[in-house]
Amino acid sequence: MKNNNTLRTFLCTVFLSTVLAACSSPDDAAEPTADVPQSAGVEMDAPVGRLGDNVAPTKYDVELSIDPSQETFSGRVSIDVQIREATSTIWMHGKDLTISEVYLTDSASNRIGASFEQRLDSGVALLTLEQPVAAGAASLHFAYTAPFNTSANALFKVERDGRYYAVTQFEPIAARKVFPGFDEPGFKVPFDLALVTRAADVAITTTPELSAEVLENGTVRHVFDTTRPLPTYLIAIAVGPYDVVDYGVMPTNAVRNREVNLRGVAAHGQGEKLDYALKNTDGILSVLEEYFGTPYPYKKLDLIAMPESFGGAMENVGAITYDEYLILMDENSPLSQRRAYTTVHAHEMGHMWFGNLVTPEWWNDIWLNEAFATWIMNKAADGYWPEGEFDRRTLKGALGAMSNDSLAAARQIREPIDNNDKISGAFDGITYQKGGGVLAMLERYVGEEAFQAGVRLHMDRHQDSTATAEDFIASVAEGSDRTEIEGVFRSFIEHAGVPLVSVSVNCTDSENPTLEVRQARYAPLGSNIDPGASEWQLPLCFAYDDGDQRKSSCTLITEREQTVELDAESCPGSIMPNADGTGYYRFALDEAGWQALIDDAPNLAAAEALVLADSLDAAFRAGRVSAETYLAGLAALVNHATWDVSDAAITALESITTIIEGDKLPAVEQAMQKIVKPRYEMLAGTTGSGNELLQQSMQRFLIVIARDQAMREPLAQQAALRLGLDGDPDLTAAPVDELETIFSIGVQDIGQPFFDLLLQQAIESQDPAFRNAAIGALARAEDPVLVEQLQAAVLAGDFKGTEKLGVIFRQMVRAKTTELTYAWIRENDAAIIESIPETFRSSIVPAFGSAFCSTDRADEWQDFVVSHADSLPGYERPLAQAIESVRLCAALREASADELVTAFAAY
Ligand SMILES: [Zn+2]
Repeated sequence: MKNNNTLRTFLCTVFLSTVLAACSSPDDAAEPTADVPQSAGVEMDAPVGRLGDNVAPTKYDVELSIDPSQETFSGRVSIDVQIREATSTIWMHGKDLTISEVYLTDSASNRIGASFEQRLDSGVALLTLEQPVAAGAASLHFAYTAPFNTSANALFKVERDGRYYAVTQFEPIAARKVFPGFDEPGFKVPFDLALVTRAADVAITTTPELSAEVLENGTVRHVFDTTRPLPTYLIAIAVGPYDVVDYGVMPTNAVRNREVNLRGVAAHGQGEKLDYALKNTDGILSVLEEYFGTPYPYKKLDLIAMPESFGGAMENVGAITYDEYLILMDENSPLSQRRAYTTVHAHEMGHMWFGNLVTPEWWNDIWLNEAFATWIMNKAADGYWPEGEFDRRTLKGALGAMSNDSLAAARQIREPIDNNDKISGAFDGITYQKGGGVLAMLERYVGEEAFQAGVRLHMDRHQDSTATAEDFIASVAEGSDRTEIEGVFRSFIEHAGVPLVSVSVNCTDSENPTLEVRQARYAPLGSNIDPGASEWQLPLCFAYDDGDQRKSSCTLITEREQTVELDAESCPGSIMPNADGTGYYRFALDEAGWQALIDDAPNLAAAEALVLADSLDAAFRAGRVSAETYLAGLAALVNHATWDVSDAAITALESITTIIEGDKLPAVEQAMQKIVKPRYEMLAGTTGSGNELLQQSMQRFLIVIARDQAMREPLAQQAALRLGLDGDPDLTAAPVDELETIFSIGVQDIGQPFFDLLLQQAIESQDPAFRNAAIGALARAEDPVLVEQLQAAVLAGDFKGTEKLGVIFRQMVRAKTTELTYAWIRENDAAIIESIPETFRSSIVPAFGSAFCSTDRADEWQDFVVSHADSLPGYERPLAQAIESVRLCAALREASADELVTAFAAY
């Protein structure tokens, strides 16, 4: 799964500390309780985690009757199972199902009556047999009805323009709301699927349709090809009056000697916007096939634009689902939208091998699934679209994850999942971005080809089956012939936190210069982290000057303190302690070391300049570098020639201003304009997609964050023309890439009439790029009257699934609207919590509070969330992280805000 922006990194993809003994399987924590025969009537504790292995499915036969205009659907399901020891009870899954028939047939075809009862809210259910069944093969049979879900979860229905659509989102544990089964990734078996639909409806699932038969009542029974072995969470179903665009076949290539059918699917009337996504699919898929060295594993591929926003995309086998924003577009759509398509599409198709063909044994290893897909999506996007410069995206993602990983409440990458309530918490930035960064570090350490050999070996060994993280690292160690990486891998997946490597050069006497290296855990000001409590096995790569030569070297750091000899004749002027930026760590230098590196900043390669930006920012937040040096470094990086370095520097500027109180901001805004504007003006007339993105990003920064009045004025006029405030909309009045910034000025500077019209157009629009820009701009409303209207629109359901989360977050993080939004959340607590899709609720609601920067608010927010604990199962870690972030912000404000304001004043 892939969530398409930062506020959603908690879901799978999307995107949350338990001690894990280094060598024991974390799965041991989940004791099965169902695999011993027990007589009926004996009370048993339902397993809150794994079901156990006494009864395992071997094949599913699922027939669903789906009419999305109704409130419920019905199903008939047979599951072939293998029973290890005789039993009269079977723990399985089924949630909110109304069962009308249930029985078992044993290996001799004897029918045994049964009852089925949901025991836990998470959907753990108990099937109780009227008499015990012997060990061996048997089949379970069910007939039932169930309600359609209304948020983007399970089998849900969406109404648009009077037409009703149904579509699924199962990962992680919603398949159990659609059919009874063994809803765990480790149970990987073939499915036979059939769908009974209204005659005019399209029916789509994981495999090609084999036949469609009109039944007596006029409905149609669609029968589909048997799947390869799959876990429940990878099945997809879509039924409704969809547009289906048949794009023909993807031709054979050097790796694949069979053709693959490709189709696009979207709500009625949207089909024509699928062309861009379809046209680029074969190219991206071919890059992946070349990397894996094996063909796309499935018979067909459908790309489905979900008529509801669920926050990203999902790698269902043969039927990937996407937010409309991610696949409805054309050549003229915003660059950022086309880039999002490229990476997310590569991510989901990468899962077809890693995740789908080889599946995690249990949710504790879902991180590897997502880390790998995150890492390979950038590799594949870079291979397909080299001018897009996607090659630094994995690094940038990892640096982004470090802020969460700097918390005492950070979680380790891999941790036990012993309870269903913890599963969705496993999809966060640590899983995706830190995981991706750790894989990139390993790849750099063993070499690109050796790593690829390991990946291919892994696919070959475990295809159509499941594997653990241990299996993966064993494959890479064997494929690369580097067994020491197992220690590196373990130390990174089993320790929370960011390693901080302090480096100083020692040039004494006639000896060769040495590097004195000390590792600790990074801790910002106000943190409870004990820096000395963690130790990593760390591949340290560093670069330095030796006279006119630049040299670099890698060494494995295994001790807390280590001395590394440099191959240098003279004392190096500056040291780059993270050469090529591939190490997942931050570095610390003394004041002279920072100065030397900042002086050298224009000459640093882009990846090294990015890690400098991060480590310098971290040093300021830890109170280890002066505000003056910090700003000097950011100013130097703003002027770096590479677009994303410059962008990282302005992002740091934007972020650090949250510690500055409102009355001091105008002066700081002026200073930021002076730091950024010269670089912005130099961008005019440059080419390349990176420079285009930087231009947009700097424009937004100068206008919205640094509030450059001279730049704002003409934009209000442009916004009015584009929207049609005094006549017909002039579509040429504003570039699509700048729409959100321009509309934001309309909302803030024109006010009410503009806001009203924009809100109306946003709600009515079915153009995902327009909708995205319009809602983003509406969320920048600052006038209390407009803020109130925006809040009413959220509660009225005017925004789709995850759109409303973006609105609430943006209103919370902007200082001018934080308090208004906070008051509104308190007043409408139940309605707001209820309106947030169930899958996100427990992670998102606590995170709203992370926008505060005072200890009083931290305490209040803690009480507020805890008072809603019943509606937020699994809220504990997201809340702990939010509260800690607020306290750290308050500590930094207390210690450094004045110094920072003074440093800004020098510009
Ligand atoms: Zn994913």
